[in-house]
Amino acid sequence: MRDLSIYIHIPFCVRKCLYCDFLSFTASAGEIESYVNLLVQEIEEQSVFYRDHRVISVFLGGGTPSILPAEEIGRILQAVRENYRMTDEVEITMECNPGTVTAEKLGNYITYGINRLSIGLQSTQDEELARIGRIHDYEMFLHTYRAARTAGFVNINIDLMAALPGQSIASYRESLERVADLAPEHISAYSLILEEGTPLYERKGQYSFPTEDEDREMYQMTKEYLAERGYQRYEISNYAREGFACRHNQVYWQRGDYVGFGLGAASMVGDVRWSAPESMKEYKDYVENMRTCTENVFQQAGVQVLTMQEQMEECMFLGLRMMCGVGCQDFYEKFGCTMEAVYGPVIEKMISQNLLQKENGYIKLTDRGIDVSNYVMAEFLFE
Ligand code: SF4
Repeated sequence: MRDLSIYIHIPFCVRKCLYCDFLSFTASAGEIESYVNLLVQEIEEQSVFYRDHRVISVFLGGGTPSILPAEEIGRILQAVRENYRMTDEVEITMECNPGTVTAEKLGNYITYGINRLSIGLQSTQDEELARIGRIHDYEMFLHTYRAARTAGFVNINIDLMAALPGQSIASYRESLERVADLAPEHISAYSLILEEGTPLYERKGQYSFPTEDEDREMYQMTKEYLAERGYQRYEISNYAREGFACRHNQVYWQRGDYVGFGLGAASMVGDVRWSAPESMKEYKDYVENMRTCTENVFQQAGVQVLTMQEQMEECMFLGLRMMCGVGCQDFYEKFGCTMEAVYGPVIEKMISQNLLQKENGYIKLTDRGIDVSNYVMAEFLFE
């Protein structure tokens, strides 16, 4: 029986943050209800393909899943439970944003079996939050965090961002310290990437952004400070207390099987990858076509069968994101040939430049390699 992870996309938000280029938008209560109906239908229709899988993780992401009435979350998870085989230790994560949950909702999430909460904070500085268009301030976050603890959540992630407009090294440091003081089990810390077409990109001239050197300093500070506070860095941007690394995200980095449900959700099972349509009208057709099992479903999903070389490339550049690296034996078991036979010269070159190291049968990035990880990973692409 193969392991499977399930991603469920909830594309709704209270309003769009100024830096956001995710598939998310506002919607009426009626639109939300219709979407959940489609989602439940898709979850049911697709289950026939996963009879020989057991679900090890479920991730409700978005958008802002917590914008939904709690009963709708219950309805979605019930559809998963009724149609898929779940392991007893299944990790069920839900993303939520401050200002969209109540104590009652949080209590309901626990009842539905959600055992990991991921809270989008980004910064503890109200001016920084306002500049990027977040709907909440730090006080609202604290309220949500404490309510989640009271409701019984013992596995909480907090998202933080560096390189925000108007952010200084000192203000970032304060955000890090305040978050570590709260002692969440997991912290994700990414740098803001200014995406073209977002409102923040259009007004970038109005703000002073941290320089590249300052961004690098924030990155180093995150690594060193969180280590001092007992967090283990297990992926380039993710830190956890022992035993609390996110199982779901590790499946992505280790190229495990995952299926995505909902608007635009991506899936990859074995060597096959596909994505649901990104427009609501097309998504509706896509789910309806599943019922009649027409050929259109495959076209709409843009089904792509990966070559062996593409799988090897992914195995390396996703796996190297993890601090444990890529196991030579795992590589051999997946592809039937040794990593040395395929990537020997590249690995040697990277080791001689002190960018990669070999340890206990694993190839992994050195500290220096992490700093230039994009360069290292690009070396693993075939021409
Ligand atoms: S809450 Fe997240 S998904 Fe929603 S608009 Fe903000 S950044 Fe985008």
